[in-house]
Amino acid sequence: MSWRWILNKRQCTGCGICSDICPERAINQSSGMAYPEPISGKCTGCLDCVDECPGAAITVEQVENSAGKQMPEAS
Ligand code: SF4
Ligand code: SF4
Repeated sequence: MSWRWILNKRQCTGCGICSDICPERAINQSSGMAYPEPISGKCTGCLDCVDECPGAAITVEQVENSAGKQMPEAS
């Protein structure tokens, strides 16, 4: 079981809160990045980022796959 982290860029202000508060350091937003990006396989689905995002821009979904790895995000 793994988790898919999905960003709605239209609602994201790039504030960086999600990458700051993620306890697993599963979100990367280095300086110069307009938007945060998930780091594959690290999210544990705690939903802290979903709760704290001021723009309600994040969706975290459970994904089931045989390899136990994060599926690539459909775009
Ligand atoms: S907390 Fe929300 S608005 Fe801020 S960077 Fe993360 S996704 Fe974007
Ligand atoms: S759900 Fe939790 S572990 Fe996953 S990216 Fe958000 S804060 Fe990090």
